[in-house]
Amino acid sequence: MIPLVDLELSKSLNEKIKKEVGKVIDSKNFILGERLYLFEKEFATHIGVKHAVGVGSGTDALRLALRALGIGHGDKVLTVALTSPFTAVAIVEEGATPVFCDIDQDTWTIDINDALKKIDKRTKAIIPVHLFGNPCDMKSVLKFAKKNKIRIVEDACQAHGASISGIHVGTFGDAAAFSFYPTKNLGAMGDGGMVVTNNKTVAHMLRILRHGGQTKRFWHKYRGINSRLDEIQAAVLSAKLKFLSTWNRKRQKMAGYYLDNLSGLSMEFQQVLKGAHSVYHLFVTRVENRDKLKEHLSKSGIVSDIYYSYPLYFQDAFRKYSNGKLPNTEKLVQQLLALPLYPTLSGRNQDKIILSIKKFFK
Ligand SMILES: *Cc1c(COP(=O)(O)O)cnc(C)c1O
Repeated sequence: MIPLVDLELSKSLNEKIKKEVGKVIDSKNFILGERLYLFEKEFATHIGVKHAVGVGSGTDALRLALRALGIGHGDKVLTVALTSPFTAVAIVEEGATPVFCDIDQDTWTIDINDALKKIDKRTKAIIPVHLFGNPCDMKSVLKFAKKNKIRIVEDACQAHGASISGIHVGTFGDAAAFSFYPTKNLGAMGDGGMVVTNNKTVAHMLRILRHGGQTKRFWHKYRGINSRLDEIQAAVLSAKLKFLSTWNRKRQKMAGYYLDNLSGLSMEFQQVLKGAHSVYHLFVTRVENRDKLKEHLSKSGIVSDIYYSYPLYFQDAFRKYSNGKLPNTEKLVQQLLALPLYPTLSGRNQDKIILSIKKFFK
């Protein structure tokens, strides 16, 4: 069986992580300690941003970014309906209203022309999602946000290391959220997340807000939440960060191999903007008879899966935020299928997958 994702690590890295976790256990220091502060510095350097604040999850990273920027009750936040539902969970948890915009049919990321139609006086922010590791058109997002005086919180939860003209995503907006959910390109061994920003004041607020709003011992000046990246996860992530670029390059090479070998079939692929580099958190294809292909692959022992099955506004929790049909989104959710892609996928297995797909189209 070829799985969709495999979290296997090299033996030496596994040993290294066990040793580092052992050190944390021996230190008896588990929350807001030197491991976290070190990893925050390492991550900030890797992304090329001034401040990184470790939090409990990617969802909390989005929540805290919005809150630190003063966005909450009564405010509207533009985003997409083709994303992890947790993007919208964060907006709703902050008391704001998600406003769903359609996606560009080539990049499958936010269509600023549609955002332009949906903005009003209550709109305070935009959350562009770098879907499947593919950078959004940040030039358009920045121009749009500046003109309309709204904030940008990048959802970079699937895009650690993705870049536009050599600049990493997560550095373009007022703040950005990363997730370390185990299956992400950089994954913890549990939950974890990070907010990054170049703004010192915002970073200062984030540090207060992730710690319950506490400004001095037992004195809570702000309404915060309790969400910190713990020392064990920070130690795991520090060890894994050193391999992120290598893993991303492997993903890019494999994606290139899929693209070379599947061209000419009745399949479409997510377009990457000129000068941009996707980190292929998922390798997703667009096919007319998606369900049949999924079944066909399954019969050959190949797992594929649907990301994402529904526009967010189809779901009970978000239905009330629906603002009409989003044609590109509704079409795409019927045709998207993710194929196996992860750094340890062997060339032999990738060839098997390609062969099986070619057979399907014969
Ligand atoms: C994973 C993910 C999230 C949520 O991250 P968690 O760490 O699971 O809370 C949010 N947005 C996107 C696009 C994601 O992929």
